Amino acid sequence: MAGNPRVGVLALQGDVREHIALLSRLGADAVRVRRPDELRAVDGLVIPGGESSVIDKLSRSFGLQGPIRAAIAAGMPMLGTCAGLIMLADTVVDAIDGQESFGGLDVVVRRNAFGRQAESFEAELEVAGFGGDPVSAAFIRGPVVESVGPAATPLAALDDGRVVAVEQGTLLGLSFHPEISGETRFHQRFLDAVEQWRHHLAA
Ligand code: GLN
Repeated sequence: MAGNPRVGVLALQGDVREHIALLSRLGADAVRVRRPDELRAVDGLVIPGGESSVIDKLSRSFGLQGPIRAAIAAGMPMLGTCAGLIMLADTVVDAIDGQESFGGLDVVVRRNAFGRQAESFEAELEVAGFGGDPVSAAFIRGPVVESVGPAATPLAALDDGRVVAVEQGTLLGLSFHPEISGETRFHQRFLDAVEQWRHHLAA
């Protein structure tokens, strides 16, 4: 299909710039999404790391919660990192009062699961389907996937077995931040799904 894939990064709060930079490096036309009409103009959405309770509140006040849920239901590819994984989870444990997610991933995630002592750490991960070197993953007050329902597939786990990457159809959720460690394979996988989605829409 002609032209670069046009993808959005939800730009309400969080590490938006890092995702835009990485997606641009991979040849995508990456734009910030803050309004429903900006969402309609893209073929995939990245939900960045940041603070999920803030992203939730702002997405509701900017009128984006409904359109993002509809896009997920329609099959639009999305990649959520850290707070973005929380936003894509069907169930969130240790959320603040009244906190909502977009949902889509059949998982239970626990916010801030790694506690204070280990607010930040790096780990090497083997990821299902990735050849080459293990992923060097940066965890920054990230969530953990406490349970994976039948519709979702775990992609990576820590040595102790805790799941930190999941996939379900065109949705990809990560507890960590590939956009910070310079890991490109998850964003490439997302862009491949976007390319397929564009073909599907054009068919
Ligand atoms: N603790 C944050 C939250 O609950 C996530 C941290 C991050 O995205 N780096 O949303």
